[in-house]
Amino acid sequence: MRLIIMGPPGAGKGTQATHIAEHFGIPAISTGDIFRRNVSEGTPLGVEAKRYMDAGEYVPDEVTNLMVRDRIAEDDAKPGFLLDGYPRTLAQVEELDAMISHTGHELDAVVVLTVDQDEIVSRLLQRAQVEGRADDTEDVIRRRQEVYAEQTEPLIDVYRERGILREVDGMGEVAEVTGRLFAALDDVTQS
Ligand code: AMP
Repeated sequence: MRLIIMGPPGAGKGTQATHIAEHFGIPAISTGDIFRRNVSEGTPLGVEAKRYMDAGEYVPDEVTNLMVRDRIAEDDAKPGFLLDGYPRTLAQVEELDAMISHTGHELDAVVVLTVDQDEIVSRLLQRAQVEGRADDTEDVIRRRQEVYAEQTEPLIDVYRERGILREVDGMGEVAEVTGRLFAALDDVTQS
């Protein structure tokens, strides 16, 4: 089963990705988490990614694509995976298509969490206090929202046209949203 979870920064993708992945017995692969791990370990990838992350910009496609290619080739991702935070650009969509078709599989579904913009900003500011993330200052939050609208929102139409998009209301309690996600993915068959 090959799934993607999308939504603007602060929509609660990471939390929900963990629940969905556990439910389907597949790994949740978060590009943001992989970048953050590399930043904290001070790897060359982390040093490069940090410049972009701190500014609220996207890490270049070449860097991100290679990282995802390596990650989904690992054994635990062979039966399937849930991507959280990838793809984020049209170029990444194409790369992912190539990676998946190369293995003879298909993308089963793309879920997008829809949320209220004001609610998002307050969630992100709250998270900034709890986690102390360098990319959660108010200016950077605003920039991340802009970049999402410019570069990532168009992907929703791409997947809608393919007939694999599931839109899920991301507002409310975590458990409520998880329930909606499970219902939206109920009929997705394994490939
Ligand atoms: P996230 O935790 O998913 O919000 O990601 C945090 C940051 O990592 C983003 O603001 C980007 O700088 C970078 N990042 C994560 N995923 C991608 C991606 N698919 N393409 C480019 N940059 C990414």
